[in-house]
Amino acid sequence: MTVHEAKGLEFPVTILASLQAERFPRKYTDDAEEPTYRRPYYTPNRFLEYKISHEEEENKHYDEENRVIYVAMTRAEDTLILSNIASKNGEIEIPPSIENLIKSNEDGIKPLNMNNLDVIEKMVSSKELDEEEKLNLSYSSIDTYEACPMSYHLRHDLNFQISSSNEMNHGNVVHNTLEILNNANKEGKEFSKEEIIILILETFDKYPDLPNDAFKKQKTIEDILYYWENFGKNIKVLESEYPFSIFDKDYKLSGAIDLLYETEDGNLGIMDYKNAYVVDDFKIHKYAKQIYTYISALEEDPFYHNKKGTEAKIYASSIRKFVEIDLNNASIDFIKKAAEDIKNEIFNSKINIHCDWCPFNFICLDDRCPQCGAPMRDGEDLCRICKKAQED
Ligand code: SF4
Repeated sequence: MTVHEAKGLEFPVTILASLQAERFPRKYTDDAEEPTYRRPYYTPNRFLEYKISHEEEENKHYDEENRVIYVAMTRAEDTLILSNIASKNGEIEIPPSIENLIKSNEDGIKPLNMNNLDVIEKMVSSKELDEEEKLNLSYSSIDTYEACPMSYHLRHDLNFQISSSNEMNHGNVVHNTLEILNNANKEGKEFSKEEIIILILETFDKYPDLPNDAFKKQKTIEDILYYWENFGKNIKVLESEYPFSIFDKDYKLSGAIDLLYETEDGNLGIMDYKNAYVVDDFKIHKYAKQIYTYISALEEDPFYHNKKGTEAKIYASSIRKFVEIDLNNASIDFIKKAAEDIKNEIFNSKINIHCDWCPFNFICLDDRCPQCGAPMRDGEDLCRICKKAQED
């Protein structure tokens, strides 16, 4: 709902999003000084005597913008949530008018942190499950829970949204291209190198937010061609992006398997694509758990329960590496354990090195960087960005 549409209405909880300097309130632009914004009309001479000065016009603009924000804030009956956007390097710019408001209401306006998170929890938590109700999980949500229960709570329980990073979008380009190639393989279609290159470039076009990076595109082309030449074109594809579900009395876990293929001895092979730059033992352990989830789902699958999964691989596209996953001792006990802990609302913060990049670090980390004010972990001198700037 726009602020103008909300005029005259009131709500128990009002959330005001995108409060960002130069965006909301909107930046003042002088048509005469910035020709890009000049509109094709002219002021008749007789009105020019009423023309106000540049400064007056700018003040009026900001007064009006602040008035609109004031109207929006006063729609709240009980709780007002102000939110803004961190820039790509993690900095948060608060518009001066909002900063003044916060300073003059220090008792009433509090930054969201661990001490007052319960305000949000009471409003939006979906965790009040009936005894009979199942948790809806995915492998990625379990992975998030294991890495940091608080991060799971914020993302999957309280539904805080995070925007796609360039890395995520780039991973989607690789996945989407391989899905098309695998489906075509299943139908017996062959691809020339030139056709694959066109396909990859067309897939990039579907992600206009990705920077137009010629080097990255060329590397992606080579990474995918390497996969295709060394594996993709030589296998018998059974399924691409195959959906599955695992049902337990406490949870339902759903997802999709990147690729199912027939092994040389007629059994089932599983392939998963990763955009990783490093594949160490820790990552292989994580990937193995994901594959065990697939194996378990296939054992119950109406079409594939008679086939045995005997081979599983990861293709780490960015480093063009195939990693074999050991299927001995496959177990999915870790899912049951995570599901139990989630049901018991165990959502502790696990402060770790990844907190530096975590979009929720402003909630968990109390320390602030002395140079830029960004959240940082205990015991650090500077945040990672200022540290990097110092090293460079
Ligand atoms: S900042 Fe750290 S502790 Fe907090 S949610 Fe993110 S990963 Fe977890």
